Amino acid sequence: MTAMPATELDQPHDLVGIGVGPANLSLAALADGVPGGLATAFFEQRRNFSWHSGLLIDGATLQVPFLADLVTLADPASPWSFLRYLRSRERLYPFYFAQNFHIHRAEYDAYCRWVSDNLPGLHFGHRVDAVRWNPGTELFEVDFTQLGLDGEPETAGRAHARNVVLGVGSEPYVPEALRPLVSSPSVAVVHSSDYLDSRDRVLACEHVTVIGSGQSGAEVFLDLLRRRTPGAEAIHWLSRTESFAPMEYSKLGLEHFTPDYTRYFHALPEQTRDELVPRQWQLHKGIDAGTIAAIHDELYRHTLHGGWPDAVITPGVTVRTAGRIATTKVELHLEHRQQSARSCLTTDAVVLATGYRDRPPGPLLAGLTPYLRHDSSGRLRVDSDYRLILDSEVTGSVYVQNAETHTHGVGAPDLGLTAWRAAAILNSLTGKAPYPMPRRTAFTSFGMNRPVGPELPDRPPARLARTT
Ligand SMILES: Cc1cc2nc3c(=O)[nH]c(=O)nc-3n(C[C@H](O)[C@H](O)[C@H](O)COP(=O)(O)OP(=O)(O)OC[C@H]3O[C@@H](n4cnc5c(N)ncnc54)[C@H](O)[C@@H]3O)c2cc1C
Repeated sequence: MTAMPATELDQPHDLVGIGVGPANLSLAALADGVPGGLATAFFEQRRNFSWHSGLLIDGATLQVPFLADLVTLADPASPWSFLRYLRSRERLYPFYFAQNFHIHRAEYDAYCRWVSDNLPGLHFGHRVDAVRWNPGTELFEVDFTQLGLDGEPETAGRAHARNVVLGVGSEPYVPEALRPLVSSPSVAVVHSSDYLDSRDRVLACEHVTVIGSGQSGAEVFLDLLRRRTPGAEAIHWLSRTESFAPMEYSKLGLEHFTPDYTRYFHALPEQTRDELVPRQWQLHKGIDAGTIAAIHDELYRHTLHGGWPDAVITPGVTVRTAGRIATTKVELHLEHRQQSARSCLTTDAVVLATGYRDRPPGPLLAGLTPYLRHDSSGRLRVDSDYRLILDSEVTGSVYVQNAETHTHGVGAPDLGLTAWRAAAILNSLTGKAPYPMPRRTAFTSFGMNRPVGPELPDRPPARLARTT
């Protein structure tokens, strides 16, 4: 690393972003429209924009309407909207007649790529390694490594910023018991995030086990079922949860994904927030009812030959441990708690639809340790404007996107709140309201004394080079 030439981006930026997923891409797109302009740079370690490429299964759709694109819910007139993308592709009329509110996941990915290909200030193939505060210059120093085509480090560099925004998202989670198998090349044990790359290998196996009852597990099970011969499916779908439960999608239930609910949640005591989040699992962890219906339809179709499908769907099962047998087979040691029963399942391939975990910001922010403030569980404290609470000595701000479930609730990863959060950050950053916010967003009044507004920040704005 020390042998690498160093690139110094001389001019300090108003805002440097780390990661370019939908969250920071939304912020970059809305920042592009701030009157007077903002000096921004966003760094992304991947070569190109890519959104969950391993799960862009044919026919899979977004779970939010297309209005939850990168900008529309904050600024319907933005040049970076999904409708503008369709117009650029001359596809507005087909979309209009298709009458689909829920667009294909592959189409959302293509739309975001169009934005990322055309928006200035995005640096792909750049991994950010560290963020520090320099009290002398009163700037953040953001160290990055420019990566080559194969991801190898090529050039070290540093950017300077008055403010920083973290949008590093989440990473696939593999339970402890299964970790050694995922790294073993001889067995087909893959996380669902790599499903499409591994699908041919998995389908070539005689028996397949899917683990996990969320949306990803359901989509993988359905895709495998559709590709197996009726009567010879040889699939197990197992889940630790007590049922293959539908995701809450009622219209009042969806109001938990509004700015009103986010504000209400943020104002609750820490202990109450911590008790609430796990109780709200069905708002985001279940399976979309349409996918459940498609699975049932497909299973029914597989009975038309006269027999039952060779598919075992069992909830309430925990994988205690797992091991390799012979060279290519896997033995899963299972427990059914309600029955107090244990058994072994031998399978040829495992797809782990075991979810994702927030990427811990700790390593990136290690250089800020003396300035960071934590809650009673050691998590970063985040104010209502998505700013980390820092020692007052630090005059810049560090914003977070999609790392604030503990302070802002289950809407943190939701695409329906992405544009609104990005707009809230820009309003806070500039101290003005380039994106005026609605005073009310839900019919439900969360809490006894519903706060009205305020959308203009009640704290001083972040430091900028110019007054916007
Ligand atoms: C399969 C799937 C489908 C989903 N569908 C929906 C849906 O329909 N509706 C919905 O509301 N939500 C959905 N979600 C949830 C959520 O909206 C998405 O996961 C979304 O991608 C979150 O965006 P993000 O920008 O926060 O993070 P990510 O998309 O994870 O992007 C973070 C980016 O940061 C980069 N990065 C990380 N560390 C660094 C570093 N040190 N330097 C440089 N770059 C770095 C990563 O490479 C990555 O590209 C879905 C999630 C999954 C997994």
